[in-house]
Amino acid sequence: SYYGDGDSAMDDTSYDRLRIAVLAWEEAHPAEVSPDSPTGLVADGVAPTGDIAHTTRLLSLDNVFDAAGLVAWGASVERRLGRAPAGGFTVEPKIDGAAVAARYRDGRLVQVVTRGDGRHGEDVSHVIGQIDGLPEQLSDAVTVEVRGEVAFTQEQFETANEVRAAHGAPVFVNPRNGTAGTLRAKGRPYRLRMTFWAYGVVELDGVPFLPAGATHAEALAAAAAVGVQTTAASPAGLLVVPDLAAAQAQADAVAAMRTELPVGIDGLVVKLNDTAEQEAAGLGSRFPYWAIAVKLPAIERQTILEDVVWEVGRTGVLAPTALLTAVEIDGSTVTRATLHNPADIRRRDLHIGDTVTVYKAGDIIPRVQAAVVPLRPAGAVPVPLPDACPRCGGEISTAQERWRCAKGTACALPALIEYAAGREMLDIDGLGRTYVAALVESGDVRDVADLFTLTVEQLTAASGSAKRGAKLAEQIAAAKERPLNRVFCALGVLGTGRSMSRRIARHFGTMDAIRQADATEMQDVEGIGPEKAPVV
Ligand SMILES: [Zn+2]
Repeated sequence: SYYGDGDSAMDDTSYDRLRIAVLAWEEAHPAEVSPDSPTGLVADGVAPTGDIAHTTRLLSLDNVFDAAGLVAWGASVERRLGRAPAGGFTVEPKIDGAAVAARYRDGRLVQVVTRGDGRHGEDVSHVIGQIDGLPEQLSDAVTVEVRGEVAFTQEQFETANEVRAAHGAPVFVNPRNGTAGTLRAKGRPYRLRMTFWAYGVVELDGVPFLPAGATHAEALAAAAAVGVQTTAASPAGLLVVPDLAAAQAQADAVAAMRTELPVGIDGLVVKLNDTAEQEAAGLGSRFPYWAIAVKLPAIERQTILEDVVWEVGRTGVLAPTALLTAVEIDGSTVTRATLHNPADIRRRDLHIGDTVTVYKAGDIIPRVQAAVVPLRPAGAVPVPLPDACPRCGGEISTAQERWRCAKGTACALPALIEYAAGREMLDIDGLGRTYVAALVESGDVRDVADLFTLTVEQLTAASGSAKRGAKLAEQIAAAKERPLNRVFCALGVLGTGRSMSRRIARHFGTMDAIRQADATEMQDVEGIGPEKAPVV
């Protein structure tokens, strides 16, 4: 279905695992392999096959998943060549989009063809004019076919989803699925911009384009010289390296900056740079032997949106969090993900029970991208939005995109004061929930520190009795004498828990010294770095 309307029912990791399992089974049971098994076909035989014959086969790439896999590929290349390659390797990003062949005749872009089954593809020339990097007219009247990847950049993807939402069309699940769908969709009432990066050049109609013996890097440079964007112009660039150790180092470097790239990549492609060596290494039925994709770990997977919980922050902002069926992404187990605000939840049309795509990479907090609508269970309801503050039960202000408790910081205050007055902290005997609520309600207490300046009159008003007011005033006076670490901890300073409060108290000795400390002095405390110090 990914190759159909662009929405896949399975994420890449699940697909790859199933595929590897099928391959292993076929290898163990060669006699039982179905004659129409798709494992020997380009794109596993599921891509729609058009009727446009490719100039030469447009193959996909074999994958490796780690450094050992790349070394093993290097050994296989040496076996095929009968020696180590002499012309070096290129390393370029594997843009996460859809492969196309674009044909230029006399400098004019005349046809764009999808990969299809590698021998025949679909004519998608209707996209001519809406792809950056694939100009309708080249600077020279050359005849040539360029091959590469079409994708939405992150920015184009966001614009595309805004346009689709405005037309009442479902938003794309991710940039790649959006690309596949957009290439195939003819006659949409709107046009969406995409971007092209060439990774190959093929002679068309027998017209020479490249000088004899041009390397892969030189071929891309020739395409760039007439106006086609190539992977060399991508943010990850194209690097020529002498050996696979250097190729692996480049792959690691690009992987590290992956989340900052303006377009999604799902790996790096390593190729023999010398075209004579490419020919000597040869082609398999699905893959060329002279190139390999080093896949990066998945940073997007599908799982089930089980529920949405709402937490109220210190300032009263309501933050929705998605509770997910546990899923492994980029080396960690994800069970919760950020949802931004109610408008965003509605824009993404999320329902409880939906299969959703979840994105996580490096230190980024996991986020829910979109629902896979075709997999929505019958009777699923849209994510319910709260009609009262989940903490205090009070009114919600919906004036801004991020909803807030109408009480703002006062919403969290009673809980903070109760915590501070508790036995482990200030131990203010008699200052229970009711009196705290009254003090917050009257405005006499706006933060924990206000407790220490309360008058007997204010405490009398809050407790409704002069006797109780006097008793509370006594208790509060005694609370000032509690150990410094407990008093400091009770203040609820952002980023300081109990053990940090102990270290701060030990380091400075008095409340006055703590108050006078600037960010530089604060860094002398163990565990407080340059980021935390100014906050404290
Ligand atoms: Zn509230």
